[in-house]
Order: sequence, then C-alpha cells, then structure tokens
Amino acid sequence: MQSEQPDTGRVNPDVIPRPEHNVSRAGISRESLKVLYRLKEAGYQAFMVGGAVRDLLLGREPKDIDVVTDARPEQVKQLFRNSRLIGRRFRLAHVHFGREYIEVATFRANADEIEDADPDHQLDHGGRIIRDNVYGTIDEDVWRRDFTANALYYNIADFSIWDYCGGVQDVRDGILRLIGDPETRYREDPVRMLRAVRFAAKLGFRLDPATEEPVHRLASLIDQVPPARLFEEVLKLFHSGHAAASFDLLQHFGLFKVLFPESDRVLSEEQAGDFRMLIQQALNNTDTRIADGLPVTPTFLFAVLLWGPIRELAEAKLANGMSEFAALNEAGDEVIAGQQACVSIPRRFFIPMREMLAMQPRFQNRQGKRAMRLLGHPRFRAAYDFMLLRAQAGEVDPELAQWWTEIQTKNPEQQGKESGSGEDRPAGATRTRRRRRRPRKAATPSNDA
Ligand code: ATP
Ligand code: MG
Repeated sequence: MQSEQPDTGRVNPDVIPRPEHNVSRAGISRESLKVLYRLKEAGYQAFMVGGAVRDLLLGREPKDIDVVTDARPEQVKQLFRNSRLIGRRFRLAHVHFGREYIEVATFRANADEIEDADPDHQLDHGGRIIRDNVYGTIDEDVWRRDFTANALYYNIADFSIWDYCGGVQDVRDGILRLIGDPETRYREDPVRMLRAVRFAAKLGFRLDPATEEPVHRLASLIDQVPPARLFEEVLKLFHSGHAAASFDLLQHFGLFKVLFPESDRVLSEEQAGDFRMLIQQALNNTDTRIADGLPVTPTFLFAVLLWGPIRELAEAKLANGMSEFAALNEAGDEVIAGQQACVSIPRRFFIPMREMLAMQPRFQNRQGKRAMRLLGHPRFRAAYDFMLLRAQAGEVDPELAQWWTEIQTKNPEQQGKESGSGEDRPAGATRTRRRRRRPRKAATPSNDA
C-alpha cells in the first residue's frame, strides 16, 4: 500500500470494478445521481467523493453527498439552472433541489506542486494553507484530501471506485491514515486534528500510529484557526450523535484543552468530579436525543461545557457579597468573553445560555408565587433540564429535582397548593395575558435569585 504522495510523475489509481465493491446506486439519492449523470452526459468526469463513498462502503447511510468533476464552476452553473456559485474558501457550485442542495466541486491541484509565487495558493509562516483555489485533475485532487478513507472516488461512468492511496483497505480495516506526511498535513490545516477525532468517534476507527503521533505535540496549533470555523467544528463533534466519544478522544489527545481551556482546567483540578459527570451525562443524553431524532441546541451544549468555570467564578463573586443571580450573570459574561477568543459562540446562543444558567438558584425556592413564576418562564424548560443534570451530577438535591418534575405534571390548582402560592393558574401562557392587563414591576434580580 502506498499513501505517500509520489515525488515524480503520475500515479494510476487502483480501479475497483463494481462487482468487487458494495457501493450501490440504491444508496445514493436521486438528486445526486441526476447531477452525476448530467455532468457525465455533458462530457465531463463526474465522481462521488469523500465521506459518502466511505460511509456506503461501511454500509452506513451517508450524511450528504459530495460530487467532484473536471467541469469548472462556471460550466457547472451553465449545466444546472438550479445552481449557485458560492465562494467560501473555495469556489463551488450548489445545485439546489427544493431545500436541499448537492455540492459540486471542481478538482483542485495539490499544495506542494504549486509555485510559491502563485497568488492563489499560499502558506503562512507556520505552513498553514491560507488560500487554495487552483483547479487541477483528479490525480492532483486526491493528494490534498485528508485521510485515505476520505479520498475515494466513485465513478458514475462505470460505477467503479478509484483508489489512489489504499483507502478501501483502510476503510475495511477501520484505520484513519493521513495522506502524506502527517505533521505537514496538520500544519497546513490544524482542523484535521479535530476531523481525525470526529471520524474516529463517529466510525469507531483508530488512528494509524503515524497519524496519531503528532497530534499531542501539535494540538496547540488549533488556536490559529478562526474561532468561527472552530464553532462549526465543535458542533460537528458534539451534535452528530457521538458526542460522548468525541469528548473522550478530545481529552485524550489534549485537544479539549485547546478548545475549552478554562473548562479543561476545572476538570483537571476538581476533586469530586461532578463537572466531568455533568458533561458525560449531558453528552450521553445528547447522543440519545439525536438517535431518537429529537432536536439539540448549541445553547444547551455550551452551557454544559462552560458550567464548571462559570460556577467557579460565580462562587468567588458570591463570596464577595454579590447576589447569586448577579454573580452567575457576570461570571457567565466573563467566561464567555474568554471563550470567544478560541471558539466563537454566536450571540443568539450565548444570551439564552447565560439566562438559563443564571436561573439555576431560583430552583431552590419552591414557595409561593416565585416558584409559580419560574414555571412560566420562557426558558423554564431548558433551565429545568439543566437543573436535572446538576442533580444527576450530585450538585442539586435529588428531592428538589423530583419536586420540580412532579409539579409540572399537576394541574394549575394543585400547582398553586403545592407551592403554597394561592395562585390558581399556571404561570405560563396565562401569565402573559395577566401581565398585559396589569403590568407589574419586574422582580428584582437579587430577590429572584
Ligand atoms: P461527513 O460524513 O462528516 O460529511 P466527510 O468526509 O464527507 O464527512 P466533509 O467535511 O463533508 O467530510 O468533507 C468532504 C471531503 O472533503 C472529505 O471527505 C475530504 O476528502 C475533503 N476534506 C474536507 N475537509 C478537509 C480538510 N480540512 N483537509 C483535507 N481534506 C478535506
Ligand atoms: Mg460530507
């Protein structure tokens, strides 16, 4: 097997004919087949590539299907009325079908073969690719892909698989092997370390020793990656159904520390291990929710991952005489501000996140109208779920958690009696109406906390 890029000349791929592999058109969406066939009929090369070929070889349903061709983006655009050119790091065509689209990329040339002077392809001082937009042929395209398992091409012309670097065998063996020299490839794009973790977690693959060796050493390069890109990668790691495994592997490789430095510090210092327990429990729940087709949100994920440092900082502020509510709010702001330097968290997620964390002390109070009001808070459900987690991690009295669970199953009259509030309505939708009729002063934070 050869997974190194050759120094000279062309390499012919291993062409695995249809009868010798299990990738069937039945596993490829109608729309993707349409795109592939239309390209082929127009005289272009057309391949399905990347994760889709890998997943189909493994008998898994691919998440999405990537198409690659020798047609230039403008030519793809001419061929498909329903297409748009997009230019993120690279220029690509999106062929739209209703709300879905198929991504069609043009073969790109490999990094090392481009002259340094070429303005379309440049490395920064650390060897990181900062621009990469040079078209090429399939046998150039293959070497810039990350893992051998991701560098397989399914040819729509005869349904064969083109394998330049032993990817089929690696898929069969469950091995992630970077193409080329691992250290160079990680330096070019440090996100590849996170991708290694993601695929290992998702597929249960192990890293080839040479691919694994540099990760610990180079983990800190992640901090050169734009925080917005890291936000996307973090979601892929934690919101794809294998969050618990991703967390373990990130920790194992010293990558969690780079992504969430403060959280990692609390994890390494804590005696009782309740923050770790909270994370593990939450990530297991996330994986179960995704398996059950239930929605998940970054608001909750980041609340979980940042709770340790926020709680710690809030406790310090509390000791200085601040109210619980104010302490949690301020601590939330400060920890989030520090975190943004590494993984950016969009406002629409961190505002509700801080709010649901600052609500935590209010669960201590099961008396009267305040308890009823908490039930009607728009963020009640998220805050309650978070409180349950804290109870599971040993941070909250299980009996208190039970009380809040039970109160929700009761009718409004019973809820009023249980809390001794005398309020005979639930605080939810009803409260909004009452409020409009008789505006009330907002509860002061320190009282409410
Ligand atoms: P998934 O199942 O998560 O979609 P995937 O392998 O398809 O996995 P994508 O992020 O969709 O991953 O990328 C598609 C393909 O593009 C990859 O299989 C790989 O060949 C190539 N690729 C993507 N990101 C990189 C990268 N950072 N470096 C090198 N090649 C990459
Ligand atoms: Mg993909």
